[in-house]
Amino acid sequence: TEEMLQKAEKLSVVGQLAAGIAHEIRNPLTAIKGFTQLLNGDNENDYVDVILNELDRVETIVSDLLVLAKPQIVNLEHVDLSELLKSVATLLNTQAILHKVEIETVIFKPKSLHIDGERDKLKQVFINIVKNAIEAMPDGGKIVIKAMTAQKGKISIQIIDQGTGIPPGRLEKLGEPFYSTKEKGTGLGLMICNKIIKNHRGSLNIKSKLNEGTIVEILLPKNLKTKQM
Ligand code: ADP
Ligand code: MG
Repeated sequence: TEEMLQKAEKLSVVGQLAAGIAHEIRNPLTAIKGFTQLLNGDNENDYVDVILNELDRVETIVSDLLVLAKPQIVNLEHVDLSELLKSVATLLNTQAILHKVEIETVIFKPKSLHIDGERDKLKQVFINIVKNAIEAMPDGGKIVIKAMTAQKGKISIQIIDQGTGIPPGRLEKLGEPFYSTKEKGTGLGLMICNKIIKNHRGSLNIKSKLNEGTIVEILLPKNLKTKQM
């Protein structure tokens, strides 16, 4: 509809503006961080540590904003999803163990799970979603990463957690910029994931039951025709 188009246009203008600002902030930020670290010298100072912590947070927001503005697929490559998902599970394993979380990958017919896409961008999507799953289980639990061939030449990837779940009213708000229920969250993760998946001509769906858990399902087409991009 027209309203949706207007919303999308507004978002892309805002996105470009945000990215421009983020880019400008990055250099001075790096300098501030470097000199603040020097201030600490040999003996740690509590105030300096607070500053460094907050600077880390600004850095996270700035880098999230930068990604948000550049979700286009630049380097189309052949991606082995089975290998990619396993590498994400390995990468996040330490963090998972710290949260008493076990990550299991269940891959059906790995040889059929090859797609056209940009590996780094897809990796970022899976990292974001698995991190959300870990963060949704404060008392620990299990995450299952499932991948299989779906209908119509698509591949389905599900990230299933046993976490807090999302109340129905809140489900609609996900993907809105800066919507976060976490003290240290930026609320940009899912928005970035959505954009990257859309640029791969795929879709992202979230199903959730309060106090039971959440399933994030991503559907990706195997072949991306260059002319569609
Ligand atoms: P952030 O992680 O920085 O808060 P995200 O965009 O990644 O931002 O997520 C937005 C919000 O969606 C989170 O703050 C959380 O409330 C909710 N959410 C996302 N994934 C899950 C999940 N697996 N279980 C429960 N809530 C989730
Ligand atoms: Mg997140």
